[in-house]
Amino acid sequence: KPFLRKGTEYYCTMSMSVVRFPNEGERFDELIKKADAALFNAKSAGKNRVFFYDENHDTGSYKRLDLEKNMRNATQSRMEEFEVFYQPIVDVTMEGNPCIGAEALVRWNSAELGYVSPGDFIPLAEYLGLINPIGTHVLREACKRCKYWNDMGQPDFSVNVNLSVVQLLQADIVDVIAKVIKETGIIPDHLHLEVTEGLAINDMDRMKQILADIKKLGVKVALDDFGTGYSSLNHIREMPIDIIKIDRCFIQDIEKDDFAKSFVKIVTELANVIHVRTCIEGVEGQAQADILRELNVHMIQGYFFGKPMPVTDFEEKYL
Ligand code: C2E
Ligand code: CA
Ligand code: CA
Repeated sequence: KPFLRKGTEYYCTMSMSVVRFPNEGERFDELIKKADAALFNAKSAGKNRVFFYDENHDTGSYKRLDLEKNMRNATQSRMEEFEVFYQPIVDVTMEGNPCIGAEALVRWNSAELGYVSPGDFIPLAEYLGLINPIGTHVLREACKRCKYWNDMGQPDFSVNVNLSVVQLLQADIVDVIAKVIKETGIIPDHLHLEVTEGLAINDMDRMKQILADIKKLGVKVALDDFGTGYSSLNHIREMPIDIIKIDRCFIQDIEKDDFAKSFVKIVTELANVIHVRTCIEGVEGQAQADILRELNVHMIQGYFFGKPMPVTDFEEKYL
């Protein structure tokens, strides 16, 4: 049950793992390692559950230990294995739908494991706290690039960078962002930080305070993956945001799905009233793009206009 404290509702789930002594190990470190692996599997399976250690999941857990070891090594060196790709964002309110910037999306090109997609390593990086150095690396690279684009003939381009809730909760997050802005010389207004509602469901006041502090630096805040998880229409009004990014799941079937279409329409109208801009993610076809233009959305990001690409490709195409 949610519990109430100082007028805020808190939700708490519990994940637990069980490992049996002595069948599954006689030594303390061995048991802990297996319990940890089972706990990770419990969380990966959606949290809020109890998992018994299962030998058949061993490949998974050893793969994870491999991933963990390699990730620690990769973050200890110069971060060169973490490459930043850029996906164009276009303005559909302007003639010709010009590109107005890009979202920075990290790729891990591991010397030992090969290519690992963000969906596979970001959750573990968050779990281990390694998302902080990785995230700062992506932020620095993206700001450096945006400054370069602005100097090289695209003075209005901006760059979107994802911030995990784990990063937002760091006591020094505002200082880290301020330092990167100063170091790279990016115009603060051209840095758009993408956050999800993860924290807001538990502690709206804290979320509002952190975002307000970040916004004092002059950067813009985008609410990512809107419409998934615990989204609430009220968050649009309460959170100090500049852009709403409507999740891809609403676009997939927009041609046939009246609910999805209405959802996009209503969110866009609400956003207009409070002077927030909307960006629609995951647009893959012409028909979808046409429907969205009719709904007066502002920005579109999706394979239809461009996939995430290495920085050299992005610059060749859009600079
Ligand atoms: P996201 O922030 O929602 O990013 C959009 C994801 O949708 C990207 O996946 C992108 O490649 C994909 N996408 C864009 N357009 C389309 C489309 O038209 N069709 C389809 N099917 N997919 C499309 P990607 O790059 O694999 O990233 C996955 C997630 O990993 C991101 O979702 C984000 O949550 C996380 N992530 C990526 N880079 C970073 C980072 O630097 N820091 C943090 N904290 N998270 C990151
Ligand atoms: Ca994003
Ligand atoms: Ca998203």
